Amino acid sequence: MNSFEFHSNSPEQTAEFAMKLGRHLHPGDIIALEGDLGAGKTTFTKGLAQGLDIKKTVNSPTFTIIKEYQGRMPLYHMDVYRVEDAFEDLGFDEYFEGDGVTVVEWAHLIGDQLPSERLTIYLYHNKEDGRKIVLEPQGQRYEQLCREISS
Ligand code: ADP
Ligand code: MG
Repeated sequence: MNSFEFHSNSPEQTAEFAMKLGRHLHPGDIIALEGDLGAGKTTFTKGLAQGLDIKKTVNSPTFTIIKEYQGRMPLYHMDVYRVEDAFEDLGFDEYFEGDGVTVVEWAHLIGDQLPSERLTIYLYHNKEDGRKIVLEPQGQRYEQLCREISS
């Protein structure tokens, strides 16, 4: 499996990179975001939303778990940090199988409920405003997507 790396030096650069990704997304795409608190998962999602032509401001859905936005296609933005039981079925499938793009912050916390084919993106703190962003595609669709955005 190939992985792709990007270095960001500011929140703006992270959002811009995510916006570029957003422009290449298709209905049904699943993006899993991983990284510590403050790593930039929500910042990334805001940029991605712009790439889907969403005009509303995307905010962290921590207290609602799922928020839905409408752009070129729907965006289902999940933050599963507060899901206490990885096996609890909160109806995620309906979103994964829907007509929109799903972005899941803290995706590993819902374990096997995540589709096995997805694009996992890890955000690592570098010093201060630096972030290392690593894209790990699982499945052909996502390998193709990574090639598109890295060319
Ligand atoms: P998370 O959702 O992972 O908890 P947020 O996106 O909410 O993280 O917060 C990231 C914070 O880090 C924001 O305050 C943002 O301005 C700051 N930040 C600094 N540098 C970067 C960067 N290069 N990329 C993303 N966010 C950054
Ligand atoms: Mg967040």
